[in-house]
Amino acid sequence: MSELLERHRRVMPAWQSLLYENPIEIVSGKGSRVTDDSGRNYLDFFCGIVTTMVGYDIPEIREAVERQLARGVVHTSTLYLLRGQVELAEKIARISGIPDAKVFFTNSGTEANETALLLATHERGSDQVLALRNSYHGRSFGTIAVTGNRGWTNSALSPLNVHYLHGTDRDLPAFRGMSDDAYIEACVADLREVLATATAPNVSCLIAEPVQGVGGFTMPPDGLYAAYKEVLDEHGILFVSDEVQTGWGRTGRSFWGIGAHGVTPDVITVAKGLGNGFAIGGVVARGDLMDGLTANGVSTFGGNPVATAAANATLDYVLNHDLQANADHVGSVILTELRRRTAELDIVGEVRGRGLMFAVDLVNPRDGGPSPDLVARALEETRNRGLLVGKGGLRGGTLRMSPPLTLSEDDARTGVDLLVGAL
Ligand code: PLP
Repeated sequence: MSELLERHRRVMPAWQSLLYENPIEIVSGKGSRVTDDSGRNYLDFFCGIVTTMVGYDIPEIREAVERQLARGVVHTSTLYLLRGQVELAEKIARISGIPDAKVFFTNSGTEANETALLLATHERGSDQVLALRNSYHGRSFGTIAVTGNRGWTNSALSPLNVHYLHGTDRDLPAFRGMSDDAYIEACVADLREVLATATAPNVSCLIAEPVQGVGGFTMPPDGLYAAYKEVLDEHGILFVSDEVQTGWGRTGRSFWGIGAHGVTPDVITVAKGLGNGFAIGGVVARGDLMDGLTANGVSTFGGNPVATAAANATLDYVLNHDLQANADHVGSVILTELRRRTAELDIVGEVRGRGLMFAVDLVNPRDGGPSPDLVARALEETRNRGLLVGKGGLRGGTLRMSPPLTLSEDDARTGVDLLVGAL
């Protein structure tokens, strides 16, 4: 056991959060690659859990942060005008597509979702919330409550009255073999039933991930959220799209994961890739909704000058290099190649993806069920070959991959070679 691994027991969550039996210490990075303390290089297909969105050591981002540090001001607070915040809010509001959008800055995805839940429950005067099975929204009291898998939370109490909808969890006997249209119809009927039987007359919001991240990059058929939104609008229920993993072109086709459904949400939450690794998140909502939040105070660190410098430079980089188009193109190369080259492997179940978010389900060849053991072995094998990937899935049987949006086609093909070799 390495000396650092021995000392790691002071850090919570400890052993269970480490991906490998012999964990690596990443000490430097460049582009799509990182280097560990022994000098070994890895192609990074997980990016610090879908976070270093445009890769490592990007000069434009480093220089923006260094310029801010050189001014000697890491923090001032939202009590004063912050030029970086204003510029970032304008950019995000424009990209959001939400009319008259305003942005509340936070430090993380959890805080962004917690704030969105505050906003919605306050606006509607109701603690009734809709969420999806198999979802993950964070680790605060409210976001745990809307996380649809008890395996990812450890709180038995809930400050919200949550009703779960099916969304992506299509692997139930009642839904097997259904066409997309029939499935959407069944989901809408389920939503109407939930609303008819909710214990209070008004429900505040539906919070949902367009592509479920921790859930294993599972996604409902395109059009489901549009069908949900129609019903939500009839009842004045807000739709919160959790774009913490799916924002900024990660899914290729659109800046937002929800774009594939042709829906403009009432509220969008963001974090992870926004600062390319610097801690920043936010809630984006219509001005009239956001104005109801003023009594909830400010966040001390939310949108601090260093984080906003990083985020402004990151978003400019995404836009200037048309990375959404790159994610679309390179992602489809990966998906096609992975499907073709794993078709004959009996340990591979579904291979799915959208843009640069893709997943491989590993199954036990005897019964076709999810295999967390194979996932653990595949993680070690890929690491040994120089590729970093993640894991996830409702039943722990999924390899998750989310390379930087800057990934070249050559590196994409190298990553596929390494992954297929490991499998
Ligand atoms: N929402 C989604 C979809 C996530 O995947 C995560 C984290 O994985 C969160 C919210 C919570 O974000 P954070 O870990 O920054 O608090």
